[in-house]
Amino acid sequence: MKICAVCANRLLGCNNFTKFYETAESLPVDEKLQKFVNSETMSNQLCIMCFGFLTRSKFGEYKDAIRNSVKKWPLEKEASVKDFQMLITVPAIMPLIENIVYYTIKKEVTEVILPDNINLKEILKTVCCNDLLENCLIQAESELKVSPKFLCEEFEKSFITGLIASERLSNEVSYKLEGIYKTKARAAKHKKWGKKAKVTESEVQESLTPTINASTVSQTLNVLSPTDLANLGEYLSSLTPKHELTVETTHSPVYIAGRYQKYSRTLPQTPWLVDGKRHYSETSVEEIIAAPFVEATGAQRGVLTSAGREDVDVRTLGNGRPFIIELLKPRKLLATESAKILAAKVNENQDLKITDVCIIEKSGCKTLLEGEVDKKKEYRAYCYSERKITSEDLKKLSMSEVVLKQKTPIRVLHRRNNDTRPRSIHKAEGKRWEGRSENWFYIDLLTQAGTYIKEFVHGDFGRTKPNVTEIFGCECDIVGLDVTNVHLDWPPTVPENEQIVEKSS
Ligand SMILES: [Zn+2]
Repeated sequence: MKICAVCANRLLGCNNFTKFYETAESLPVDEKLQKFVNSETMSNQLCIMCFGFLTRSKFGEYKDAIRNSVKKWPLEKEASVKDFQMLITVPAIMPLIENIVYYTIKKEVTEVILPDNINLKEILKTVCCNDLLENCLIQAESELKVSPKFLCEEFEKSFITGLIASERLSNEVSYKLEGIYKTKARAAKHKKWGKKAKVTESEVQESLTPTINASTVSQTLNVLSPTDLANLGEYLSSLTPKHELTVETTHSPVYIAGRYQKYSRTLPQTPWLVDGKRHYSETSVEEIIAAPFVEATGAQRGVLTSAGREDVDVRTLGNGRPFIIELLKPRKLLATESAKILAAKVNENQDLKITDVCIIEKSGCKTLLEGEVDKKKEYRAYCYSERKITSEDLKKLSMSEVVLKQKTPIRVLHRRNNDTRPRSIHKAEGKRWEGRSENWFYIDLLTQAGTYIKEFVHGDFGRTKPNVTEIFGCECDIVGLDVTNVHLDWPPTVPENEQIVEKSS
């Protein structure tokens, strides 16, 4: 078993390696551990305890990789990065490896200690990440996140598979280890297919790609005795770990707020998929709004949140519905001016217009969701009645502060609990539908958010009371519904002349 000078010192409780990494001096190793230590000149032999991650000559490469990843991150407004957050990942298997090395060497050198507090991550953090960029701070919290990942996933998998099958362990221990990783395979299947999914033994065998994380590694350490661990030293020494460093730099999401008006009765809010195929439309409100912003920022995708949502066949008119698009993992930031130009691009679409577009802080999302609870909405419901409607009938629809009792509509029963909910109609007014026969009329409504308007008209087999069918004493149905106003004073209104940007021709 061969380890490096740094790891040998870790095993003796030394925790300050700054000088070693910053100079060319060699690191003295206690006599007792000499026989386990690789000479630094034999760089082709990897340390079995840190997999060579702590090799001094590698640190220049690490720093370059991290530096390049940060510098590559382009900002539109500012020339340089001011601060970033560092999130180092090291292989989850490390504690198991360190324990095996520790117990193996302890057989001969009793003074060694487990280097719990002198772990790989700490050394990489304190030494490798020192003064990476000039005039640039590494913060605990920053919008820019740099994630150097020191990994050896292939090695981890083959190591665990070999460990379970190892003849150096008793059948009982092997069985327990198998349990830790097989349960994982089972859990993965249940997560995908539901709790009732049958998992056959052959499937478990096939899908036995061990999930190696902090939890399974710590369970493994609970199963293995010090003797087991010491016996595994030979197995570990026979392997050559392959490892790599990848660095990813990402930015916190960018949030765009605004209001949208939807003029189509076939455009869903988010992609509507039935059996993997699109329903109604090849696109959605979310995709139409997000597309230019995703393209301009190089974001992974855009996610829509809105103040309530409308059914696919409902138009949203008036001042529009407040929304937020969350742009995930953007590669560039946006200036407000660019956001306005992108809004104009969205507005080239026939079915959708957006207004009041601005860039907001994350806290704005809270305003949107909280406003949802007590906001009011205005609707226009277009209706048809079996018999001709008189002015007397229409007068009956003039109401204020009427509380409806609404049982969960039949059309949404498959996804909602069957409850009875009170919903307020603050104001309603029936009007003749000009240009049509006397069977046609419409109702302008101001209601509490969450009122089911379609059910208020046709009654939903008496599940909503009172309802228009009941009031008129004849079958009535709704033929079209528009949201005409969403009462939410957010985001701030932008004057008309400031939000329209001429297309450059
Ligand atoms: Zn080492």
